[in-house]
Amino acid sequence: MALKALAGRHLSLVAFGGAQVAIDIEPLVRMLRDDAVLHGPTHTYAGALGVAVLAFPLLWLSYAGMARVWNGLIDGSMRPAWRMPSRPSVLPVVSGLLLGTFSHVAIDSIMHADMRPGWPFTDTNPTYAAISISALHTGCVAVGVIGIAVFALLRSRTGSRG
Ligand SMILES: [Zn+2]
Repeated sequence: MALKALAGRHLSLVAFGGAQVAIDIEPLVRMLRDDAVLHGPTHTYAGALGVAVLAFPLLWLSYAGMARVWNGLIDGSMRPAWRMPSRPSVLPVVSGLLLGTFSHVAIDSIMHADMRPGWPFTDTNPTYAAISISALHTGCVAVGVIGIAVFALLRSRTGSRG
């Protein structure tokens, strides 16, 4: 939400959210298989790029459907400024996917001991436990709340779409 507040219509929140779902498919499958390592190739910066590339066509093809559902849900109850554009645009979808997967790897690297974010160049994870998990969660919630507040304020003022 903080990134959306900063980037506005240049970043698709739907693509950012879709990136979170796509990148966590690997750990989900590994959890179900009871693997020792849950965060494999998708949770590296190289893998994050690959996930964003693979997610692009899925996001692109499903965007209009999601926009119809969202806009149908908010019609009559929220300001028109909160509507999604009915069709996707390349730049916001690409920036949403890339910022989504890369920030996911950055934040997960602090939390998970099994991550090797610099693979295949290094097997180290220098940011692991850089701050406590409770500090990380508090920081994420605080930045998110501030982001929602700024986003809502900007939307109510300009009424701009994005
Ligand atoms: Zn993850």
